[in-house]
Amino acid sequence: MALLTQGELADLNATMEQRTPQELLAWAWAIFGERTAVLSAMQRAGTAVCHMAYTAKLPLDVLFVDTGVMFEETLATRDRVANEYGLRVHSLVPEKTMEAQTAEYGVLYLSNDGQEKCCDMRKTQPLLTMKGRYDALIGSLRRGDGEKRAKVPILAVDPQMNCLRVNVLATFTDQQFKDYIRTHQVIENPLHYQGYTTIGCNRCTTPVLPDEPKRAGRWRHLGPWAMYCGINPTDVNRGASLAIDLPIDVIDRILGRKVDYAI
Ligand code: SF4
Repeated sequence: MALLTQGELADLNATMEQRTPQELLAWAWAIFGERTAVLSAMQRAGTAVCHMAYTAKLPLDVLFVDTGVMFEETLATRDRVANEYGLRVHSLVPEKTMEAQTAEYGVLYLSNDGQEKCCDMRKTQPLLTMKGRYDALIGSLRRGDGEKRAKVPILAVDPQMNCLRVNVLATFTDQQFKDYIRTHQVIENPLHYQGYTTIGCNRCTTPVLPDEPKRAGRWRHLGPWAMYCGINPTDVNRGASLAIDLPIDVIDRILGRKVDYAI
């Protein structure tokens, strides 16, 4: 095993900027194979990545964190992705039901500290049950979403999951994204047509007005608008070591020091 730091990815990240999302997906599959999974919340961007895997015939696992308080529309979207794209979708669930959690801690999501704890127990911890199973997680963060995501790198180390995040849509513009969805008739969460620009738990997500920021509907009751749950390491700064620990041959392949594949 050897360490890979975010700094060591700088040159490689620069070369990735011109690649299409599909090329990035193919790169990840060539490097990591079945140790790659898509992480999707079943919003529009996540289903677009699932569609790309489907059309490229990549048998990727899809991880979906089901907090137990998701909208019915989101669960139906997950089921459509599994059935129509033929992908294995793993629903990761928290240890406690929302009812059991509330009985023990109260209604956490009504305070800033409580929200962090609730998101940790209902989102981050379920994902961490998969730690060690995958070396790469394909994400759907886009720079076009603005705020903390405006500079999201294509490749980012995730020390908590000890894997590489591959943000294949990072450079996809709003227009490219819209065109892709329309051209390919990608499965969409119907809530996007009811004013929800981003979609999370039903307790903490509302629609937004046309002149509001995209993320204004997330934790609106807590404010300010720019808030994140913490499941994506590039959204937060935990002060953790920005390095991951992977087998040396995997790191060689990531950095192109050992090439036995052609992309
Ligand atoms: S979004 Fe709200 S309900 Fe969902 S895990 Fe976070 S605090 Fe809890």
